[in-house]
Amino acid sequence: MSQSCIFCKIVAGEIPSKKIYEDELVYAFHDINPQRQVHILVIPKHHLTSLQDATTSDEPTLGRILSVANQLATEAGSPGGFRVIINNGDIGCQEVPHLHAHIVGGDQPVGPMLKRLD
Ligand code: AMP
Ligand code: ZN
Repeated sequence: MSQSCIFCKIVAGEIPSKKIYEDELVYAFHDINPQRQVHILVIPKHHLTSLQDATTSDEPTLGRILSVANQLATEAGSPGGFRVIINNGDIGCQEVPHLHAHIVGGDQPVGPMLKRLD
């Protein structure tokens, strides 16, 4: 655990969250500022800053994040599909430096993948 990391504190129960799911590797909760009807974050329980720092030892956790996504999206109200977004580092516009997969969906298509640059 990183002492200063907000998501490590959520995993430890030191900061409240709306928990959806937890197993030995990952923790899932509702995003505090949802961008779509369904907006879930799935995070490793251990501190991992981003995919920039991932190694082969993180593969079980990274695989679990993706393998639970459909069940979490479906149960949260997005049975017709969903999008998974992982922002990494400054170029990826990552704001919270603990890896997290956004699972976004609902009953409307989530829209274009990226806003075009002018
Ligand atoms: P990113 O820009 O990919 O780093 O996304 C960070 C996400 O974390 C944003 O969607 C925030 O709304 C969300 N977030 C920040 N703090 C919390 C919190 N305490 N509980 C739930 N979601 C949070
Ligand atoms: Zn952390």
